[in-house]
Amino acid sequence: MTHTQETSLSDLDRHEVFLPQAVAVLENATSVTILCHVQPDADTIGSGLALALVLERKGIPVQVAFGAPDELPESMRELPGTHLLVPADQVRRNVDLLVTVDCGSAGRLGKLADRLANAGDTLVIDHHRSNTRFGRMNLIDESAESTTAVVAQMFDLWGVDIDADLAHCLYAGLVTDTGSFRWVQPGTHTLAERLLATGIDGARIARRLLDTHPFGWLPMLSSVLGSATLVPDAAGGRGLVYAVIRRAYIGDLRSEEIESVIDIVRTTSEAEVAAVLKEAVDGTWSVSLRSKSDVDVSVVAGYLGGGGHRFAAGYTAECSADEIVTSLVESLG
Ligand code: AMP
Ligand code: MN
Ligand code: MN
Repeated sequence: MTHTQETSLSDLDRHEVFLPQAVAVLENATSVTILCHVQPDADTIGSGLALALVLERKGIPVQVAFGAPDELPESMRELPGTHLLVPADQVRRNVDLLVTVDCGSAGRLGKLADRLANAGDTLVIDHHRSNTRFGRMNLIDESAESTTAVVAQMFDLWGVDIDADLAHCLYAGLVTDTGSFRWVQPGTHTLAERLLATGIDGARIARRLLDTHPFGWLPMLSSVLGSATLVPDAAGGRGLVYAVIRRAYIGDLRSEEIESVIDIVRTTSEAEVAAVLKEAVDGTWSVSLRSKSDVDVSVVAGYLGGGGHRFAAGYTAECSADEIVTSLVESLG
């Protein structure tokens, strides 16, 4: 394990903070580095850029980065605030205030996890059930549907005027983490309404982030879905369905095409749990898990070295695809 703040901070140093303290820390910062999680999605990037735009307007020097890959996924390039992104290797070594957004553990920072140890202070802003409280200050709202929803609450307390640019970033995280408003709770639509009322084009944002794929996506889906497997006895008889995306199928497709597969596989009615195994360039695998009702996949993913939410979680593995399936079936019981 690398020597990160996760291991060097004593439990006494770490504490939960609430919105007022988080706002005070940000307001008084002399410079801020915001880190998003590796293989970023629109929630981590939307949260990071919205917060960065606010700090920039207040005259506080700010940079935003993520550990991998090198480029921002194409679907997120229209988000306001991308001028504040810096490549991972340009992130300062000794940062004043380091803020992480939508990261459940230090490992989610990838190669930037080493920046935790030398940071003047750390603030973790997140909504993952599995969050390890790896910052000195931890603002974690497990009930929030997205990290952008937590950031919106912070802005309200801060007296920030949420204009169209900020709303665009916040809406991006909200629409993706709620599965286009399928996983909602009281208040979700109220926030969406406020953001839309700033004049942003909700349809365009959702289409760009979630509903746009090159033609090559279709043959990839055909190969991957054509070999999907149903294991009816898994998860105590509630069933597991899984699909395997090998490098050979991926070609030059973007991460957006790969990440979309789980949303089709998980609709299988005969299975409570769905998994997609995604082969990385280096031969390792990242695994997406989804469940529908009574299986908490954040616990299963946590046991296998990852984390996430009750109904959506993930982990990485270095063994073969067959071994991943065997250990997954075993963990599901
Ligand atoms: P994904 O399947 O990649 O969309 O991820 C679903 C959820 O699981 C997200 O909330 C992720 O933050 C979390 N997650 C995915 N992969 C990992 C991992 N390797 N370690 C911890 N959490 C993960
Ligand atoms: Mn995320
Ligand atoms: Mn999120």
